[in-house]
Amino acid sequence: MQKFLPILLIAVFATFLPVNPSAANFQPSIKCLQIQLNDLGIDVGVASGFWHRKLENAANQYLTNYPSKQLPYPSRLNAIVWCRGLGQIHPKLRKFWPSHNNPLQLSLLNNLSKSQSKTIRKEARRAFKFINSELGFDLAEPVKIVASNSLQDMLPVVRAEAGSVYTDAQIQADLKKHCHPSRSVSGAAFEHIIAICLGKELSSGRAFTKDQLISLRHTLAHEISHEVLNQLSGYLHTQLPGEEFVKRGPRWLLEAMAMVIDNHYAIPSNSLDRNLAWYRMKNSIDSQELKRSESANIFSGDVHYYGAGLAGHLLFKRSGLDSFRTYGEALGIEGNSLIAFKRAFGLSLTDFYIYFGKQIKP
Ligand SMILES: [Zn+2]
Repeated sequence: MQKFLPILLIAVFATFLPVNPSAANFQPSIKCLQIQLNDLGIDVGVASGFWHRKLENAANQYLTNYPSKQLPYPSRLNAIVWCRGLGQIHPKLRKFWPSHNNPLQLSLLNNLSKSQSKTIRKEARRAFKFINSELGFDLAEPVKIVASNSLQDMLPVVRAEAGSVYTDAQIQADLKKHCHPSRSVSGAAFEHIIAICLGKELSSGRAFTKDQLISLRHTLAHEISHEVLNQLSGYLHTQLPGEEFVKRGPRWLLEAMAMVIDNHYAIPSNSLDRNLAWYRMKNSIDSQELKRSESANIFSGDVHYYGAGLAGHLLFKRSGLDSFRTYGEALGIEGNSLIAFKRAFGLSLTDFYIYFGKQIKP
């Protein structure tokens, strides 16, 4: 099945790491929220970009003034959900979104050749536009992408964006783990930035071959999908010191969504049924194993990726592509993946496992 080969070439990953204590750092989305609330006449003082009690009180004051079902209880974990949500409720506040003037920001490092940079720029814009029009998200923060064929060069750029969430050692280890010199294109989604890594084959600066281009498309769409979900649900998986651990839901579901979107985008000639049949053939896990792979620690390797791919395409078939955006948004508002799952896909997670068990074989 030559046509499906590109799916195999990219097993790309989101990163799920514990958070360092400097997570209380400046956040553009907190600053956005502060400016928005001030603009609405609810005083939060200087827009510092740091979470504090006065901001929490002001956000609660907002909820008293404008009761809303679209906003969660305010915390620094979900400032991005607030910044986006206020812009949706009050369109005049969209101008304060950090994404307002430049929704897609690319850092193409100078170890790439001109032709490679040109291709990546064009493909990133195309993937971003496609996902945006398919899923209809309005992201309040820009999608930031760094592309490079050298991990060393990439490190400071990732650190500058994700350094308040991850330690240097975590970023380094993650880049090393997910950027494979043996793969033409691979990637990793950190919070606030996506790393696109070119492997050995492309290190000489030569132009992308047709297959490499398809890998690039898969990787871009996959990692952008992760960042979209991060922003819709509010970077929820991170555990901040002294705060409750809020899960973004089953790990397999996060991968499932990204895989559905990257396949849908990168191989448009494949029908949903054809993708479903392919994942059915590759899949080797039952519903119990799928459930086990809810945990990020257990989720690993092709076995879980194929299972997640099958589960994702089953959900796509049942509920449509929009349901993935619904899931992210519901999770951002409710902070509870079980509620979000039922709202998005119309059945409970428990019932979905039963359904998955019946669907494994055609
Ligand atoms: Zn992934």
